[in-house]
Amino acid sequence: MEQLVVENLRVEVGEEPQQRLPAALAQHLGLAPDAIAEWEIVRQALDARRKRDVHWTYHVGFRLREEAQAARLLDKGKAKLKRPRSKDAPDLAIAEGLPHGERPLRHPPVIVGSGPAGLFAGWLLAREGYAPLILERGPEVGPRVRKVNAFDQGGEHDDEANILFGEGGAGTFSDGKLTTRTRSPLVGLVHELLVAARAPDEIRYVSKPHVGTDRLRAVLVFLRRELVRLGATFRFDCRVDELLLGPEGEVAGVGLRGGETVPADVVVLGIGHSARDTYEMLHAKGVALEYKPFQLGLRIEHPQELIDVSQLGPFAGQLPAAEYVLNDKRRGVFSFCMCPGGTLMASVSEARHLCSNGMSRRKRDSGWANSGLVFTVPHEHAPGGGQHPLAGVELQRQLEQRGFELGGRDYALPAQRVSDFLAGKRSTGELRSSYPRRLQSADLSEVIPAWSRKPFAQALKVFAQRIEGYESAGLLVGPEARGSSPVRIPRDRETYLSPSTPGLYPVGEGAGFAGGIMSAALDGLRAAAALVRSRAPAG
Ligand SMILES: Cc1cc2nc3c(=O)[nH]c(=O)nc-3n(C[C@H](O)[C@H](O)[C@H](O)COP(=O)(O)OP(=O)(O)OC[C@H]3O[C@@H](n4cnc5c(N)ncnc54)[C@H](O)[C@@H]3O)c2cc1C
Repeated sequence: MEQLVVENLRVEVGEEPQQRLPAALAQHLGLAPDAIAEWEIVRQALDARRKRDVHWTYHVGFRLREEAQAARLLDKGKAKLKRPRSKDAPDLAIAEGLPHGERPLRHPPVIVGSGPAGLFAGWLLAREGYAPLILERGPEVGPRVRKVNAFDQGGEHDDEANILFGEGGAGTFSDGKLTTRTRSPLVGLVHELLVAARAPDEIRYVSKPHVGTDRLRAVLVFLRRELVRLGATFRFDCRVDELLLGPEGEVAGVGLRGGETVPADVVVLGIGHSARDTYEMLHAKGVALEYKPFQLGLRIEHPQELIDVSQLGPFAGQLPAAEYVLNDKRRGVFSFCMCPGGTLMASVSEARHLCSNGMSRRKRDSGWANSGLVFTVPHEHAPGGGQHPLAGVELQRQLEQRGFELGGRDYALPAQRVSDFLAGKRSTGELRSSYPRRLQSADLSEVIPAWSRKPFAQALKVFAQRIEGYESAGLLVGPEARGSSPVRIPRDRETYLSPSTPGLYPVGEGAGFAGGIMSAALDGLRAAAALVRSRAPAG
């Protein structure tokens, strides 16, 4: 019997869903509780639209003991059938198993980067028997965490082991939000793989899944073991410095730091948005790259309690740390990567540059709430009108160098109270925040472009009307410059191949086809599926 679904069953704050839902389901269906053979939560969401009526809603999947009753419920519109949509057929095929192309590869596929795009591309290729080789410039997660902790405690920045480079990519030191708007069956596949790697089971059904950086680090180790079991090989501290090309400009292999070369007829390029040296190398090699409008701005932090009260009213303190979404469409400024109960951090991949970002632990219990406040940089505001493919990288570098100088050249984060930013003066007195290193009072208008300053200030005033205390208790830091990729590496929609470089599969955020952990993972899966359909494994 197929599974039926009932949507939007209500559970009050403080009620135990496992106890409440069977009775609520039976009551909704007009059946005795024992008519239901089995049930499971398929979606859980918090409805906080009305502050005095905050409650949970659940979609519940179930099977009945008697099939005849199911038909009656469907006729009456009391339940729905849980069926895949026809447009999901290609993604369902990826989840279930793929036909292989006929022309065999001569060498195992090389994957550059172990972020979500590279890892999930690697998982699919390994499952299909292609034995991929995954090359990662940074270290394994354990030594990487030690390097980042040492930096947070005042140590030196490491260009190869940091918030952005190393096992798991940029997602490792993150909020670990797995939010996505797509309803592709691949989302379920990624959830299953993460849960099998010890991510919390609830990510399969909560509307805004969150893993937390501490839990993600452990998940990555189990995920790596699974890939190795399926036939993948990992090499860490292994930076790709050169793409080797054959006589027709096709992929012939990669050159590693230190001079070693690895032959390959296909390379999956999942380098993320911060490998500026790798972008430069690709450009020099003639790989097609384009400027991509990207997000810039500042980051804002408040006490979490203030956000809880503004979002949950009388329910504040009884529910997990609250989030918010703010969008001033008129000025094009919006909140981004909100981290409830999170911490500020320096998201730096090059020494003597500084920019802000945010992450959180599973418990989201830091007592602080931060989010990026960003706007998009269109071609006309990029250096040289965005004609050069790396124009956005140049702008990021300019602002991040300024950020480093304003921070006193020791990775102190430039900071300014919202009220002082709006009044055009530096902040005085103690500035408190979750940033593990020092804060430095500064004029933050210096780390966003001149054209953006007025609309940014106007948007702050709009947001201050939506959240009480937003202006008086808010602290700005910045620049926030690594929210999205400033480069696109074009590719064919069907084959996923670079039009300039046969054999090259650009994937994930660094190629401009993803913006977050889930979308990068799905992009890696789809690109790997295109590879599998076109080539057979090396013999
Ligand atoms: C601080 C922070 C917090 C974030 N929080 C969230 C969040 O909560 N939820 C969410 O959905 N998204 C979040 N994001 C965004 C998310 O992490 C990215 O969208 C995602 O990681 C992109 O995946 P990717 O695989 O395309 O690239 P990345 O994750 O950036 O991985 C690229 C990998 O390639 C490696 N690499 C680069 N160049 C080379 C080379 N030449 N040789 C070998 N290896 C190389 C890098 O070291 C890196 O490990 C956050 C990002 C940051 C920086």
